[in-house]
Amino acid sequence: MHCRVLILGGGISGIALASTLGDDVEVVELFERTGGLCETVSENGFTFDAAGPHIMFSKNKAVLKLMVDALGANVHQKRRENKIWFKGRMVRYPFENDLAALSPEDNFECIHGYLANPRQGETPTNLAEWSYVTFGKGISEKYFIPYNQKIWNYDPEKLGLEFVSRIPKPPLEDVLRSSIGIPTEGYLHQLFFSYPIEGGFEAIVDAFRARVRGRVRTGWRVAKVERDGAGWRVTSDRGEQISCDTLVSTIPIHELLAVWPEAPEAARAAAAELHYNSLINVVIGSAEPRAHDYTAVYVPDPDILFHRVSFPQAFSERCAPEGSSIAMAEITANEGDGVWELADEALLARITADLARVGLVDAAKVSYRRVVRFRYGYPVYDLEYRRHVTALREAVAATGLKLLGRFAQFDYINSDVCVERALAMGAELGRG
Ligand SMILES: Cc1cc2nc3c(=O)[nH]c(=O)nc-3n(C[C@H](O)[C@H](O)[C@H](O)COP(=O)(O)OP(=O)(O)OC[C@H]3O[C@@H](n4cnc5c(N)ncnc54)[C@H](O)[C@@H]3O)c2cc1C
Repeated sequence: MHCRVLILGGGISGIALASTLGDDVEVVELFERTGGLCETVSENGFTFDAAGPHIMFSKNKAVLKLMVDALGANVHQKRRENKIWFKGRMVRYPFENDLAALSPEDNFECIHGYLANPRQGETPTNLAEWSYVTFGKGISEKYFIPYNQKIWNYDPEKLGLEFVSRIPKPPLEDVLRSSIGIPTEGYLHQLFFSYPIEGGFEAIVDAFRARVRGRVRTGWRVAKVERDGAGWRVTSDRGEQISCDTLVSTIPIHELLAVWPEAPEAARAAAAELHYNSLINVVIGSAEPRAHDYTAVYVPDPDILFHRVSFPQAFSERCAPEGSSIAMAEITANEGDGVWELADEALLARITADLARVGLVDAAKVSYRRVVRFRYGYPVYDLEYRRHVTALREAVAATGLKLLGRFAQFDYINSDVCVERALAMGAELGRG
């Protein structure tokens, strides 16, 4: 079996690329369905994005339009209503835009630390320092640092500054207004977002898949990658072989290196230094309607295992049966940290109790429970990330094998950037 372009992995990167490449293209995907991190689970009338809540937004308006248009009539717009649960209070997100919701003491410590910040003007070298310089002691120690410690499962002093451009930074006037109780909206960038009406976020992958003219093989585990003359040969765990002129890998780089015996040593050495987080998501359905309009609630409290809870009905009312509600709690974990090893039953019991403590679930009304795990969730941007990822990409590029997507390129990107890069690669391969 031979094709011009073979794509490893059927997440949004692989499927979007295949959709641009005519019929001489094959995609091979480990699982029985395509979707990858954009997977949506529909079970017992409940629908949720398995890796965590996904919304459609992008700085690239052309790509966003392409994704929205791909859904035809199956898309609507929603407004974000995010909160932070802090000492039993619901504070509007971002934290510094709702300081008046804190107790007077906490509010004072936050606004005082923000205005009389002895570290202002310093040049930060890590995420923790950046927080002290940007927000001052109160906001940093009450919210920003504990929250980031939880979501990254990593010491914020060892995290770099590459993703701080994503973090909302409000003007001084807004923080002052928020402290004395004048409402401000803050982070407007994702205030409105698009989402499929039916089928969850995976509907976007399905929409691109409908445009693929080549073959998509599912249940096909890549077990070996090797050179084949000027091209490549890929073998599945059942011994099936496909050779190709051009090989594009969208599977996680650590998985690729494990099945590519001739991979450059420099790539292996660099990948060994790149850290990623795994995800455990605990989904709880309840036999009672939703009592609030929150999209998601962020929880910096270190005593509570999850860092965020989201509510799929805020994305589409069709995500739960009439009269029911659904909540998804996200936990960042790593193999060996004890949390990743927790059995599903232990997690369900702990998370149900934590959700009840935050006031978001009534344990007596639980009607559906599910735990999902993803080994590859977030690439961690530690202080050495850029050096290692550059060495990795250069070593792989020198072989001619092409990398595309979040964990293939080891880049903290969302699906819009995956599509943007897939289109660019499609144009390049189309020319070749
Ligand atoms: C918690 C969370 C929230 C997010 N929120 C958003 C959001 O709001 N909006 C947004 O746009 N994006 C969001 N993202 C990002 C988005 O999910 C990713 O950028 C995107 O899904 C990555 O797609 P990909 O195709 O590059 O990789 P993947 O989806 O990881 O695809 C790789 C594929 O390779 C397959 N594979 C692995 N090993 C093998 C093998 N040996 N053989 C064959 N196949 C294999 C996998 O099964 C998978 O299908 C979020 C991600 C997370 C984790």
